[in-house]
Amino acid sequence: MAAAAGVVLSACTSAPPQQQPAPVDTGPAKQAEAIGNGGVVASVDPYASAIGLEVLRSGGNAVDAAVATAAALGVTEPYSAGIGGGGFFVYYDAASGKVSTLDGRETAPAAADANYFTENGKAIDFNEAVSSGLSVGVPGTPATWDEAARRWGTKPLADLLKPAAKLAGDGFVVDQEFRSQTEENAQRFAYFPATAQIYLPGGAAPAVGSTLRNPDLAATYDLLARDGVGAIYNGAIGAEIIAATNTPKTVPGKTVRAGKLAPSDLAGYKVEPRDPTHAQYRGLDVYGMAGSSSGGIAVAEALNILERGELRGQPKVDVLHRYLEATRLAFADRNRWVGDPTANDVPTAQLLSQEFADSRSCRIDPAKAAASPAGPGDPKAPAACPAPLAPAGAEGNEGHNTTHLTVADAKGNVVAYTLTIEQTGGSGMVVPGRGFILNNELTDFNFVPVTAGVPDPNLAGPSKRPRSSMSPTIVLDKGQPLLAVGSPGGATIITTVTQTLVNRVDLGMSLVDAIAAPRASQRNGAKTEAEPAFLAQPERADLEARGQAFTQVKEIGAAAGVERLPDGRWAAAAEKARRGGGSAMAVNR
Ligand code: GLU
Repeated sequence: MAAAAGVVLSACTSAPPQQQPAPVDTGPAKQAEAIGNGGVVASVDPYASAIGLEVLRSGGNAVDAAVATAAALGVTEPYSAGIGGGGFFVYYDAASGKVSTLDGRETAPAAADANYFTENGKAIDFNEAVSSGLSVGVPGTPATWDEAARRWGTKPLADLLKPAAKLAGDGFVVDQEFRSQTEENAQRFAYFPATAQIYLPGGAAPAVGSTLRNPDLAATYDLLARDGVGAIYNGAIGAEIIAATNTPKTVPGKTVRAGKLAPSDLAGYKVEPRDPTHAQYRGLDVYGMAGSSSGGIAVAEALNILERGELRGQPKVDVLHRYLEATRLAFADRNRWVGDPTANDVPTAQLLSQEFADSRSCRIDPAKAAASPAGPGDPKAPAACPAPLAPAGAEGNEGHNTTHLTVADAKGNVVAYTLTIEQTGGSGMVVPGRGFILNNELTDFNFVPVTAGVPDPNLAGPSKRPRSSMSPTIVLDKGQPLLAVGSPGGATIITTVTQTLVNRVDLGMSLVDAIAAPRASQRNGAKTEAEPAFLAQPERADLEARGQAFTQVKEIGAAAGVERLPDGRWAAAAEKARRGGGSAMAVNR
């Protein structure tokens, strides 16, 4: 009745038609797939992808474009990544056919020891640790950009920072995702005046459609362009990082824990080139990131476990069951054996071996989910289907937000780069006057040993790197790049990358569909996290009958990737819907 009255009223009135509210500007359009013959970029953000694309158009290679895109993400995705954080850079060089990696993970201060996160013999409160100086590690991202540009780029870092500096000065249009992430963090951002000044304009999260400028960050990028990253590791910005970490500036009445960074921690920081992890899967070569990330090792082990049975053409429920069981086992092993390889004896080669995976895959019962936590195997002594060792604890504390980008250029060079400041909003602390947020990466350490009596490779230690799950991955087919992919999502990164590869390689989906497909993440827990669309599948009942148990979560990860099409062109692929959708762009010549 009310609706009918409304219709009559608007039809009969002679008043001028009501003005529609102007549509809210939500920034540049996003698209999940783009195909081109001159190079491609996939990231979560259209401003950042556009900057990478411009670098490709102007003759830069994939490394140049990746660094420029990452710098732009430091502006538009400041709660996920930036020069206050760290990450892992995987590069395929078309000229040599070689895959190389850079470990740009944050490091603990030299003053840290195994009790860094304990007080009176007990773990300190996790959230207290997050928003504090104690969780801040020496940033690795500036050094990673510098190292990548010097080793493999064609343009000086200064040129690659310029578009992001301009973006920071001009500002970007706030979308719903950015506003929501700000609102989720508003309370703790308000503790730190330097953070509130940028991200809580007028005391609240910026409105959707408003423009957010960060002139301090623009000036910081300009300074790095002029003076180089030494301004951070041996200069004025570094001194300010130390001050912000060791004597955090908070509003009256609020104190947070102080960090222990020394100038020598920054001066001594090094990006570590690491041998990539490698697995052969269905005749393809899968390369990833070795320790201090557990990502490459765990993805490779899960694939090696799956390698021992055909998935193609099998009933979907069997594929899903095997996938869940493979990552359950891979997580049992990753938790027990993987940490910073400089501080631990990580049996990387053994964990990556098919022999070890075979000794583990026999534990998969096709009709029954294993009880969790499942015990790890012993990669140092793989035997035919041995009994597992004692379980070595849970997945760890990683946050669920970071960012991933993938680039390929016309020459066939490929970059898969995942970078983070750990939790959404990192430590919550902006370095006053410099416009970037400091990481809380050190909370990726286990605060206390996860299992009494079992050595824990991921306790804090002097200048140690906390274990990561980031899994930037490049897949070659007969020596030529086929695809590259990665995702944010803390420990779920490992399952997202594994599931995307299974979708693409075994189930024959295109990369964009492999990324969009519903996800589930089993990480050696009694329950598997699953998205609503995963649980809506008819296979759910059969999986549950086999003992798989699920917890529903809104969404898992936000992947981005590239793949080479049979005609030689590249397709960039991003999320269709998760986190508001990602941004794929292509150059066509
Ligand atoms: N700190 C996490 C890791 O290194 C990444 C956080 C995330 O993906 O959200 O694995």
